[in-house]
Amino acid sequence: MKRVLLLLLFISLFGCLGSLETASGDQALLTLRQQTIMQYTRQGRLDSDTREKIFAAADATALQALISKLDDAHLNTLPVDGRVCMAKLKEMVAIGRRFSGSPGMDEQRKMLVKYFEGFGATVVEQSFNARNPLTKQPVESVKMTNLIVQWHPEKQARVLICAHYDTRPFPDNDPIVANRKGLFVGANDGASGVAVLCGLAPHMGKLEGKVGVDFVLFDGEELVYDNDRDPFFLGSTHFAREYAALPPTYRYSAGILLDMVGDANLQIYQEINSRRFAPQLIQQFWATARRIGVKEFYAQTRHEVRDDHLPLNEIAKIPTIDIIDFDYPSSRHRETYWHTTEDTVDKCSAVSLAHVGCVTLAWLQSIQ
Ligand SMILES: [Zn+2]
Repeated sequence: MKRVLLLLLFISLFGCLGSLETASGDQALLTLRQQTIMQYTRQGRLDSDTREKIFAAADATALQALISKLDDAHLNTLPVDGRVCMAKLKEMVAIGRRFSGSPGMDEQRKMLVKYFEGFGATVVEQSFNARNPLTKQPVESVKMTNLIVQWHPEKQARVLICAHYDTRPFPDNDPIVANRKGLFVGANDGASGVAVLCGLAPHMGKLEGKVGVDFVLFDGEELVYDNDRDPFFLGSTHFAREYAALPPTYRYSAGILLDMVGDANLQIYQEINSRRFAPQLIQQFWATARRIGVKEFYAQTRHEVRDDHLPLNEIAKIPTIDIIDFDYPSSRHRETYWHTTEDTVDKCSAVSLAHVGCVTLAWLQSIQ
């Protein structure tokens, strides 16, 4: 996604952590403790007992062991398995570069098709050619493939849950200039949305109501080497144009786009374009989060994001909202991991992925 207008809305939700300074001991413990307190506060999991245990940990190793235990116990209570999401996220990241047309993208596509088919989905590959933005390359066009993962394809009333599955070619927003031609693995920006879809897959066969679901994985969200020159959203634009020009017998009544939903410091605000295009869907989705007790969804706006939901709203006329956490890792950090070499697995968490998956699943169940 691109051209984000950062609203100068200052949120000081966590300005009351003063007691942290009283702790003694090594810096690693202090840092981990602070991070954990923040995360658990955001997740609504910091009861007094948990807080006591966190402060009782003697060193960073002991605290890490405690966190693993607490997280595991929490994950066991959730319908969507965050460990499955995280395992798939790691599998995608381990492939390395996955930009459109790259061998890594090919490998990832095959892996995902097999995975979703394993849960009984019908997977349609929607391929098209796009001009290679690197016009000096010998290959002039890049083959793009959107994946349309259909559950109960016979149902005529449908919704779509989508995510881009390509990654940016380079970490060109890295603060260190020398890194900008390095490796970008896109753990959050790229893999996280797809990872949530992977966690939802085991549940989809059991959705027995009247509404069918398609997962749509977009290629070409950002085959972008130069923000001012290269077009974004190639896959979603192609998908939206096909839907508008050759209307299928079924209709999509709503779309949910998942992008950058893996941040361990999850904080999801209502994205401004989404609220403009699909205000009712925003209300429904946030009401679902509130109902099932997922606390990281805030009912305020913060960022305006241009993303794959724009072609779906503007061309296909499918009311679609972007579920995105653009404060990566948090609004308290001046530097972002977005489009940098820091967008790695360790910045993401199984709990965040599971929470987004749980809201999405509960919403899908509520519209049946
Ligand atoms: Zn991006």
